[in-house]
Amino acid sequence: MNKKITKSIPSADLYKEYLSIKTDIDKAIAKVIADSAFIGGKYVEALEEKIASFCQTKYAVALNSGTDGLYLSLWALGVGAGDKVITTPFTFIATAEVIAVLGATPIFVDIEKDTFNIDATQIEEKITKKTKAIIPVHLFGQPAQMDKIKKLAKKYKLFVIEDACQAIGAEFNGKKAGSIGDIGCFSFFPSKNLGGYGDGGIITTNSKKLADKIRLLRNHGSLMRYHNEIIGVSSRLDGIQASILLAKLPYLDRWNKKRREIAKYYNNVLKNVKNIELPKEEKNSYHVYNQYTIRVKNGKRDMLKKHLLKHGITSMIYYFTPLHLQKALKYLNYKKGDFPIAEKASTEVLSLPVYPELSKEETTYITNTIKRYV
Ligand SMILES: *Cc1c(COP(=O)(O)O)cnc(C)c1O
Repeated sequence: MNKKITKSIPSADLYKEYLSIKTDIDKAIAKVIADSAFIGGKYVEALEEKIASFCQTKYAVALNSGTDGLYLSLWALGVGAGDKVITTPFTFIATAEVIAVLGATPIFVDIEKDTFNIDATQIEEKITKKTKAIIPVHLFGQPAQMDKIKKLAKKYKLFVIEDACQAIGAEFNGKKAGSIGDIGCFSFFPSKNLGGYGDGGIITTNSKKLADKIRLLRNHGSLMRYHNEIIGVSSRLDGIQASILLAKLPYLDRWNKKRREIAKYYNNVLKNVKNIELPKEEKNSYHVYNQYTIRVKNGKRDMLKKHLLKHGITSMIYYFTPLHLQKALKYLNYKKGDFPIAEKASTEVLSLPVYPELSKEETTYITNTIKRYV
């Protein structure tokens, strides 16, 4: 019982990541200060160019956060009061929140049991004349079934906004996340696969019209200072964040590969472990494992989480409450039982540490600790 904890494995180790590229980061920050390029400016423009090229799109527009990416995308597409937007209830609140902020209504569709992504086969029955857009979320780093979703979007003339906040570098049928729908939204929240040292986000698109509109919206409707063409907001990325992200981008493919190796190791060692179901990787997708999320069956999830913590390992629950049961969205009048697969998932999911800085010794310790428990 009183066994001393010899290890401490957090759910992400951003300081360790910093130490691994300290010279690059310190230089990146110093340059911005020397140039006083704090808001917008050359580092932000360079980042937009590099991300567009990385995501195989023509344009990228840097913003304050991934949430603002979703918000300004819907706004630029003209989604507003009376409209409906289809999405998943098993995601971070931001995905549905921005729909509501614009006066539109989030319409939820249950998820696939194996991937936790929106079940594309259940979308069509939810489409009405008021439906304007679909927001699939590439949850935990694995793309949703974009071919089916695009087919529906084409048939009913709907926009598709990819919530790729957890999926930078992921691919579906060889296409980069963020290049498949009308717009892709990414977050640079520190614990995302490409994280800044504060808030940040970016959208990607092949449409010049949409890129231009979002560029206006993010800066008070203005391209030239004090000339305000339309009503907008303030949602710019700072130069320091852009410069840090530029320094980190060259490592992203390597880091994503490392996450995949750790996932593969977990898959090998944890297969056939009682009460544990492993995450499914679709054949047509390149999963970048922002999270490695298992299901713990038979009501044992919370106990396993405690057991891991007792041994110094932090695991996380994404997501504890599906969005249709959140207090903030109560006015939509959903009830328990409406999305049984998402509800069940919320009682079983457990995300294990999966970041690139984890050592072999640490991942072995994690799997041994799990196996000893079950
Ligand atoms: C992180 C995240 C967001 C929001 O990104 P922020 O940069 O924190 O605003 C939106 N959707 C999903 C699925 C996310 O994981």
